Amino acid sequence: MTFLFNSDARRGAVFAEAFAQELPDLPFTTDTATVDPDAVRYLITWTVPDNLARYRNLEILFSMGAGVDQFRFEAVPANVKIVRMIEEGIVRMMQEYVTLAVLALHRNLPAYLIQQRAGEWRDIPQLQAGSRRAGVLGLGQLGQAVLDRLKPFGFPLAGWSRSPRQIEGVICHHGEQGLAEMLAASDILICLLPLTEDTRGFLDADLFAKLPKGAALVHTGRGPQLDHDALVAALDGGHLSAAMIDVTDPEPLPAGHPFWSHPKIILTPHIASVTQPATAAQTVIDNIKRHRAGLDLIGLVDRTRGY
Ligand code: NAP
Repeated sequence: MTFLFNSDARRGAVFAEAFAQELPDLPFTTDTATVDPDAVRYLITWTVPDNLARYRNLEILFSMGAGVDQFRFEAVPANVKIVRMIEEGIVRMMQEYVTLAVLALHRNLPAYLIQQRAGEWRDIPQLQAGSRRAGVLGLGQLGQAVLDRLKPFGFPLAGWSRSPRQIEGVICHHGEQGLAEMLAASDILICLLPLTEDTRGFLDADLFAKLPKGAALVHTGRGPQLDHDALVAALDGGHLSAAMIDVTDPEPLPAGHPFWSHPKIILTPHIASVTQPATAAQTVIDNIKRHRAGLDLIGLVDRTRGY
């Protein structure tokens, strides 16, 4: 029975040390070339390896990332559990990034950067936080953590999910009708949805049109959820005021793509939140202990929902 680590060496060293301490009875390897494929019960990876079928006794496939959209579910045998990464490092970094983005957009930073480059010293009327409504698409692990971190600033907060949720201090919406209601009342819209067939192309011209005039977008979900041309059109047409974009399709963007130089877009290279090896290793170890004890796994993916 072996744990196979199929990712970068730096994280592998941290995992190896943690496994040696906490699961000394479980052989751990990063060597895909010499491992006995029949011994592999657990595998952690960013993407599903082409030769997955050789691990005939695999029980759990762990994703190194928070999302599993990069996994081809059909390539994973039905009896293998797929588990995404839920760890405090990812959560904390996403809280930081979205707070940074919401405050930057709330305080008109993109417009001030344009003015700075033009040598223009001019104040822009400033809304108070109590008048700037923030809406979060996706009320999962990250959406809820982000809302929690935004609370002290005093923004009126709302969120949207597939199923009904109740979160103190947050107006929770769900379903089609709920989406329209939340969009109409979101001055800053934050996307933290997983990429599924339902959410591909979700941030499109229709959706932008339902936001109030002057609204801004923070996109930290997945690149293929955003219609790039529609965003540029909404910004150029003045319906949207600015956007902070962390994920695109493709990544990286090609040279000359309008996002590189658009004055109303702040672009970051998919760094909102990054798996932290020490806390990630602890999460995986805890999950293996849960699996051995017959308990439910944290972050178990529902293949039919796609997340
Ligand atoms: P999660 O816990 O699985 O939560 C997903 C949320 O989205 C849930 O509230 C779910 O609704 C909602 N949802 C899913 N499909 C929906 C649909 N069709 N309509 C309405 N709501 C829908 O996921 P998470 O841990 O919060 O992570 C969210 C995503 O963030 C990840 O999948 C990944 O793509 C992205 N991410 C980005 C970065 C980055 O660096 N940019 C880093 C980490 C993660 P229910 O509550 O009803 O299930």
